[in-house]
Amino acid sequence: MIKLHDLQFVPFIAEDTILEAIDTIGDKLNQDLANKNPLFIGVLNGAFIFVSEIAKRFNYNCEVSFVKLASYEGVKSTQTVKQLVGLNEDVTGRTVVVLEDIVDTGNTLETIVTLLKNQGCSEIKIATLFYKPEVYNKEIILDYIGIEIPNRFIVGYGLDYNGLGRNLNEIYQLKSNNMTNLVLFGPPGAGKGTQAEVLKQKYDLVHISTGDVFRYNIKNATELGTLAKSYIDKGQLVPDEVTINMLNAEVDKTPDAKGFIFDGFPRTEAQADSLSELLSSKGVEVSAMVALEVEDEILVKRLLQRGETSGRADDADEDVIRNRIKVYYDETAILKNYYQKQDKYFGVDGVGAIDEITERLSAVIDKL
Ligand code: AMP
Repeated sequence: MIKLHDLQFVPFIAEDTILEAIDTIGDKLNQDLANKNPLFIGVLNGAFIFVSEIAKRFNYNCEVSFVKLASYEGVKSTQTVKQLVGLNEDVTGRTVVVLEDIVDTGNTLETIVTLLKNQGCSEIKIATLFYKPEVYNKEIILDYIGIEIPNRFIVGYGLDYNGLGRNLNEIYQLKSNNMTNLVLFGPPGAGKGTQAEVLKQKYDLVHISTGDVFRYNIKNATELGTLAKSYIDKGQLVPDEVTINMLNAEVDKTPDAKGFIFDGFPRTEAQADSLSELLSSKGVEVSAMVALEVEDEILVKRLLQRGETSGRADDADEDVIRNRIKVYYDETAILKNYYQKQDKYFGVDGVGAIDEITERLSAVIDKL
């Protein structure tokens, strides 16, 4: 997360993705405009990085220039006269490629295209690095589009928020502050499920337990269930790809959620990375990892007891239970480190009465 002036922004589009999109546009421009000696016109200020990246990729003769759009109040209060500032080249009869950092409503673009047409361009092509299809309301065809994005406020890679952020190598989006996303952590038997039920009501969150979703799928003999069963019965982790896809699908089911309690996810670093990507695509992030801490021997006792009534095969066998606890510490304790590095790890004593433990968890959540 970064702060620009008064606002917080979270990572949204990685540099690699941006560079790939620029490569694709560069290839197409090379195919379409070889030997046409095009004039690339970048629209300042935002397009300066995009223009330089395109110029580096264009393999034929070309010229590069920049314009700004200036508005002058006309004689009547409602009349605004727009003008291109800085266009010194004679564009008559030329192929011009307008390079935009972002096209949203298309108002700026329309003005520029009209002004260029009036100056006698014979061919005008439009290339934009980012495009918001949801809000574009003009007829002008965008010939080269880098990346389509939802209608969100973004900064980086030339784009700014009140002057700041242009020098960021990746795209950030405005952080939305109205979601609480908790990773509820703890070894099997720590009481995550019980506490999640309480916290879900208290904070109006959606509870996603990957273990429960797997068990539901096994019960209903779905393809996912069949795939997961062999791993689960042995107390092993289901492969990341399967688990991550399933988690993404679960999150997508409630697009208006106020937040989520992730219970049993992430369990590997790859899962944690993918969760962070998923949440950042919504302008939010993991708020905290709250971990219930309980001694191993207490866990074994609790799980064997639960096995008497739960009907869960993985609760009935002490060896399987011990393996699950071991897997937890071996493979997933790195996540403590992962979230600790981001100052998001909160250990909570998981031994005591249910409401006592809820209180300890709430004390952490209320401060987020
Ligand atoms: P749980 O109910 O959370 O203890 O999960 C039961 C079993 O489901 C685990 O032992 C794993 O086999 C599988 N499982 C649940 N969550 C995950 C996850 N995030 N990654 C991989 N496997 C999982």
